[in-house]
This record gives sequence, structure tokens and C-alpha cells, in this order.
Amino acid sequence: MSRIVGIDLGTTNSLVAYVDERTGLPVVIPDRDGRRLLPSIVGFTPDGVLVGEAARRQLARRPADTVYSVKRLMGRGWEDVKDELRYFPFRVLPGEGVVRLAVGGREVTPPEVSAIVLRTLKERAETHFGEPVEKAVVTVPAYFNDSQRQATKDAGRIAGLDVVRIVNEPTAASLAYGLHRLGQGVIAVYDLGGGTFDISILRVKDGIFEVLATNGDTHLGGDDFDRVLMLWLLEDVQARHHRELDRDCVELARDGEAMQELRLAAEAAKIRLSTEERTTLTLPLAGFTYHRAITRAEIERLLEPLVSRTLGPCRQALADAGLTPSDIDQVVLVGGSTRVPLVRRRVQELFGKAPHSQLNPDEVVALGAAVQAQILAGGIKDMLLLDVTPLSLGIETLGGIVSILIPRNTTIPTSAREMFTTSVDGQTVVDMHVVQGERELARDNRSLARFELRGIDPMPAGMPKIEVTFLIDANGILQVQAREQRTGKAASIEVKPTYGLSDADVERMVEESFAYAEADVEARLLIEVRNEADTVLTHVERAFRQAGALLGAEERKAIEAAVAALRRARAGDDRDAIRERTSELNHATEHLAEMMMEAALKGALDTKRADEIMGRGSSREQ
Ligand code: AMP
Repeated sequence: MSRIVGIDLGTTNSLVAYVDERTGLPVVIPDRDGRRLLPSIVGFTPDGVLVGEAARRQLARRPADTVYSVKRLMGRGWEDVKDELRYFPFRVLPGEGVVRLAVGGREVTPPEVSAIVLRTLKERAETHFGEPVEKAVVTVPAYFNDSQRQATKDAGRIAGLDVVRIVNEPTAASLAYGLHRLGQGVIAVYDLGGGTFDISILRVKDGIFEVLATNGDTHLGGDDFDRVLMLWLLEDVQARHHRELDRDCVELARDGEAMQELRLAAEAAKIRLSTEERTTLTLPLAGFTYHRAITRAEIERLLEPLVSRTLGPCRQALADAGLTPSDIDQVVLVGGSTRVPLVRRRVQELFGKAPHSQLNPDEVVALGAAVQAQILAGGIKDMLLLDVTPLSLGIETLGGIVSILIPRNTTIPTSAREMFTTSVDGQTVVDMHVVQGERELARDNRSLARFELRGIDPMPAGMPKIEVTFLIDANGILQVQAREQRTGKAASIEVKPTYGLSDADVERMVEESFAYAEADVEARLLIEVRNEADTVLTHVERAFRQAGALLGAEERKAIEAAVAALRRARAGDDRDAIRERTSELNHATEHLAEMMMEAALKGALDTKRADEIMGRGSSREQ
């Protein structure tokens, strides 16, 4: 059993944890100096790369070469992030695809920067265990899309880590509190860190977590708490000492050395006021030392508007999940800023119950990642899968067969894409039927949605290229899009596959798929050979219409006989017979096919099916 560690790759700080075999409890691995949090900061200097605390120290001196908050850029393109760039003192380069950074005289991608943080954590773990560590569970926000998750996996790969599972941060936090052991319940995970706020509503049932809704504010956190306190202090300095400091420096987070001092003093005072009623802030300014006593009540007045701003997204997430505060069974706090007593009070008031706060809120996500790692390594039994599709999702294709795009137990969010085509000449409308389940035939599965793709240019059967995309977001919403590539005509629909689906349904559907497996496969194979026969018949008839007159009488007769033989076989259930007659017809029309090709109609007789054929026998012809 190879060791798997759990990693919280955070916007501000990152951590690595594992489950101690002796106690069965997850623990954070400290560095040699006993520090548990690794600031997610990477500094590029002429002498090399600095990580963590060392990089943080050079932030004020070399802002353009020090990368922080790179998580905000992971898997994103220029268009996604251009409005955020004012927050970054380092250069982000415009261009196609994912963004690149220009730092320390070179270009790097966000996954490369994250990989430096991950490698540091990997080495930390290796020092601790005295052996190589090659596998990790890494957490991401629940709202991360596919490309952001992929970028996180890429970062792991660059760091020499096999990312065996990506886990949602709120799911990890719930695991750390053992909430997977709840039979069932609804959990609100309130995550207020240094720079971001996330609220996630999860449902847990028999060890499976489902994200019901997420919301938040990507620019709200402890840094804003520090900023309001700094502004207040600046006013105080001005009022009492008639000294003016540059306000813009605070507003724009541009750190001069003096501002850096002020920021650190403000943050330290804020942190003390989480446990003390009153504290004194001391700040050496040019020529004198500034002292100021500040009370809990004073800081709470300053923080109140910011804390209130987190409550709107909480209410919205509840509404999106179709729930009210009283439906929430458990509340979990994540992020250093949830140590602020005012935050705890407001959260408790909103949800009407005391939040879980026994674990260190900075560590809870990493601890949960370690629990997930232990589950995957086989150390914790009777635990299942997390954030997965309970049943396969696909569309109905010709003859009523299901073509699966997203198999059951795929971790969400996820996406899949496949090409289809038409079955009838001149077909301008395609029926899309989205189904859910494990059976081979659409009629035995759960019908989720139907829609039509209209306005396809009339073309011979098999010519249109219809791209079907399935996309499941973190909230479990499935979006299906069908797009004909030549005309660009597209249609789409959104459904919630788990809506109205009970655990018993899932169990029954999976069991039935086993019980009927053999019969289903037989039925599917028969339909497939019939489809193949139909395709060949359609193509032969079309070719016959176009070029039949050019054939000799004998050849025409042979082809007609082969067509008749195939039609007879197709009416029966003998798969081998249908297959043989199809291949005989193919053989009889070889010369016809050659002629068609010469006539520059290449491809019209090519019965090799590159694409699957969509639409049932009832595919519309117009
Ligand atoms: P995180 O991103 O979860 O590591 O959270 C970091 C944020 O939590 C920073 O803004 C810290 O100032 C803040 N923080 C850490 N400890 C405390 C505390 N005891 N009281 C208030 N804020 C804190």
C-alpha cells in the first residue's frame, strides 16, 4: 500500500497532512521549524526560487517577481482574469489559451508556480516519513470547473505527484469532522479565508457527498478586515498627530515598507482581538512611535459591514438549493477569518445552530484531504465515493441504443464530448433524448430530457457532424448541448439528473443492469448489426439511384439480389446472418463504389461508420 498524503493547495496558505496509523487521526506535517502553514507565495530571484515564508519576506522589495494568489489564475484564460489583474503586482501576459506570467525574467504558467508550492510540501512529507511520497489527494473549491481542476492535476504532475483524487474543499472539511458518518444530512460549509469567501451547501447520504449549491465572493476575506482597520488607523494618525500617510497605498494594496509595517500591525491586532477584549497597537513611524488602544467593540463596528456581506451569498446558496436555514443540520467553519467572534455569531444566527469549530479552521481542509487519502489507500474501510454521478448519463442513438457519455461514478464536475451524425438522407431535425441508467436500451433507462436540434442543412445521411457535449457542474447540473458543425446550429438543455432520484432507485437500476446484462448485450448487438445493415442499404440505394444506369444488367441483378437477401435477413433475429448478408452486399457493390469514387463522389459509399448515428428509427425526415 503506497502512502497518499492530503494537500490543501490554498490561495493564501498550503498544507500537507496524513492520517496517523496509530491514532487513526489526521495530522498536519510541520516543516523543520515547526511551521504548519506554507504561504502559497513563490519568489523568482536572480539567485533562484524562494517559497513560502522566504518569498513572503521579499514581497515588499520585489513585488513584480513575487507571485501570490496564483490559485486565482489556475486553468484560466486572459478573458477570465483580465478584470482581476489590478490585484496583482506581477505581470500576466495576454494571449490565447491559459495565461502565463512574466516574473524574474522568464515566463511561467500558473500550474508551474503551484508545482513549486506542491514540491515543497512533498519534500516536507518526505523528510517527515524518511521515504519518497508520490501520491496525493489535492483539494479545490467546489466551484472549480474542469480546466481549473485539470490545471491543479497538472501542477501535481509537474511536482512529481500523482494526484489520485481532486476533492472539493467543503467536502474535505466535512470529512475532517467525520460528517461522512452521518446517515444523512445537509451541511453548510462557511469558508472565510484571507482573500476569498465561499459558502457551500452539501448533502451527505451514506458517505456520498453531493454539492447542492455554492456561492461566495472572490474578493472578500481577512485581507479586507486588515484594510478597514488600516484605514481607520491612518485616520487616527492624521487626526491625533496631523500626519498624513498615503491612503492610496492601502486602498490599492501597494506595499511600501511603512505600509507593510502598518499592515502587519493591523493584522496582529485583529488576531489578538479574536481572543482578547482589548489590545494595544504599537507602530514605529518616522520620528515617533504611535500607540493606540483598540477594543473588540471598536473592531466589530469596523468589521460589521464586511461580515454582513457574507450573509447574502449564504441566503442565495440556500435558495438555490431550495432550502431554508432550518434545513441545515450541520455548519462547518473553514478559514482563519472564522476565528473572529463576530463572524461566528453572525453564522450561528443565520443558520440557527452552533457551528463545528473544534478543529483549527486553517487546517481542517488539509485534515479532510488526509482522511480522503486514507480512504483511497484502503486504510479506512466501508467508505464510499465522493461527489460522483450515481448513474451513467448518455443519449439515445439509432435503434434505441444508449450511447453513454458520462459513466456512473465519475467524479464531478466533469464534461464529455462525442460526435454523432444523422441516419436519414436530408434529415434537418434530430431528436435528442437524454437518458440516465445502466441498461443498454434507452427504454429501460430513466428519461431525463428531450429536445430537438433543428435547422440542419439537408445532407446525405452520415454527412452532418453533430457534436454533443455533456457538462456537469459542481452543483450536479447537467447541461447538454448539440451542435451541427457545418451550420453552427445548436440547441441545449439543462437538467438536474439527481432530481427525484432516491437511493433505492439508484440501487435498483444498478442491480437490474446486472440482472439483465446478458439479454441487454444480445439486444444491443442485434440492433447494432441492423443499424449497420440499414446504413449500407441506404448508401447502396442512393448510389444505385445516381449511378445504377451505368452498370451492366448482370451486375445490377446481383446487387438487387444481395439487397433483397439483406432485407430478409434484417427482418429476422439472426445476427450472424445479417452480418454475412451485409458483407455480401458490400462485396457485390465494390465496383459500384469504385465508379462512384471516380465520379468524385468519394465517400458516399463508404459504409465504414466513423460516427455513431443519432436519432431513433423515428429520426425525422423533412
Ligand atoms: P486562511 O486563508 O484560511 O489561511 O486565512 C487567513 C486569514 O485568516 C488571514 O486574513 C488572517 O489574518 C486571518 N486569521 C488568522 N487567524 C485569525 C484570528 N485568530 N482572528 C482573526 N483572523 C485570523
